[in-house]
Amino acid sequence: MSDYFIADLHLGPQRPHLTEHCLRFLSNHALQAKRLFILGDFFEYWLGDDAIHPHYQPIVDSLHKLSTQGVKVFFMHGNRDFLVGKKFAEQCGITLLEDPCVLEIAGQTTLLSHGDIFCTDDLPYQQFRTMVHNPEWQKAFLSKSIEERMAYAEQARNRSRDATLQKSDDIMDVNQQAIITAMRKYGVTRLIHGHTHRPSQHDFKIDDRACQRVVLADWGEHGHYLRCSDHHCVEELIC
Ligand code: MN
Repeated sequence: MSDYFIADLHLGPQRPHLTEHCLRFLSNHALQAKRLFILGDFFEYWLGDDAIHPHYQPIVDSLHKLSTQGVKVFFMHGNRDFLVGKKFAEQCGITLLEDPCVLEIAGQTTLLSHGDIFCTDDLPYQQFRTMVHNPEWQKAFLSKSIEERMAYAEQARNRSRDATLQKSDDIMDVNQQAIITAMRKYGVTRLIHGHTHRPSQHDFKIDDRACQRVVLADWGEHGHYLRCSDHHCVEELIC
């Protein structure tokens, strides 16, 4: 049995083909997993568990079904869906994970993260992140009407898109020193994350120990998942 990982699906009513891929993945491929880890930006945006768009109901049902079929499903927030809460998790029968967290994956102590915490060169983004992760900010946001929240989310997405166009590729990638610091701190030799949309496996050394950073693929025309078992991880395509 294996552990499966997905991230950066950016599901939303505007991209129904991704929801179709995801439903097919959850009802077929994912049944082979012992555990399924969703490492953030599963949704393009999330306005709160009290404002679930009807488009997502089949996803809720499918996650719930998967959990009743014996697959343990874990969900870590991304920078788009950081407001996914306990109510949604209960409806789906899934467990929320802190970012980052350390787990034993395929025989190796592994750090799991969405990945945005390692983009330390992007200072305006890190400031935004600190703000929206503040419980006071979240409480105030969730007390607004759904229309107000929607308007704010759209503004934030436009601002992020404009800012992204002006930032260099390097600034939006992870900072290698931040990666090394975190891997040392948590005592791991493997890191799995998403967020950057730069799928790859990077091999390097920390204090003479062989280390690996696995970056998950975002979903576009196709879906992707990472399958880890017997000491290695392989990326698979969902056609
Ligand atoms: Mn992200």
